[in-house]
Amino acid sequence: MTNLKVHKNNKKDKTLVKVRDVTFNDGSFNLIAGPCSVESYEMLDEIASLIVKNGGKLLRAGTYKLRTSPYTFQGLGQEGIEILHKVGKKYNLVTVSEIPSLCELDLFIEKVDIIQVGTRNMENYALLEALGKTNKPIILKRGQQATIEEWLLAAEYILKGGNDQVILCERGIRTFETYTRNTLDLSAVLALRDLTHLPVIIDPSHGTGRSEMVSSFVEIAHFMKTDGAIIEVHKEPENALSDGFQAIDFKEYERLVNKTWKK
Ligand code: PEP
Ligand code: MN
Repeated sequence: MTNLKVHKNNKKDKTLVKVRDVTFNDGSFNLIAGPCSVESYEMLDEIASLIVKNGGKLLRAGTYKLRTSPYTFQGLGQEGIEILHKVGKKYNLVTVSEIPSLCELDLFIEKVDIIQVGTRNMENYALLEALGKTNKPIILKRGQQATIEEWLLAAEYILKGGNDQVILCERGIRTFETYTRNTLDLSAVLALRDLTHLPVIIDPSHGTGRSEMVSSFVEIAHFMKTDGAIIEVHKEPENALSDGFQAIDFKEYERLVNKTWKK
């Protein structure tokens, strides 16, 4: 493992991932917030306005949803991308969305600031190779069943192509526990500090599947000096078209931001 491009031994400086006025791995904590899915222009506009009002710079929103069941909401697809692009421009927010496959690469390169590779695609090597030939920042989520080594090797596919703008995201792994949706592996976050020069963030929304745990984990991530967190926020979580059970509402978002940053 030690001869890999992702490995800390092979690069003495931390890799800064930069998008406009946002930098990962410079000691700052970047909170990426937004709905699991874009549901309409109005709903995304309202969330973006909340984020800007509270000093946030990054907006996440799913567009092509990779759902476990084909009968659940599949996302607005290209229309969702257009909405995210428009709202991002209006509020000057750095946008994040998950790419479903290689077929959508050109669209994502043109319209999304940071391309997310979701847990299900962590082993999609053709996609990782193609992303390696771009200069887009990538959030690479950990596969649900991936070891830290497998995850780093997935990142290596991107770096090997020449793109070092990779942010690793711990989003929980499958264990025997069912109380939480996944088991958020915070020891992996510490392990990565020794292993790689890439920035690391956590996703406590998918990592726990429980809205009541999200803010505490953001505070823990902040305390641990990770490079940030990505969380799901919705105006009415109980009416969300996807993952409402793990989204925090606007009030909780404001409480979290004010408690963690504006001491
Ligand atoms: C998401 O961020 O909306 C998502 C589906 O994440 P993951 O790939 O971690 O499940
Ligand atoms: Mn989700």
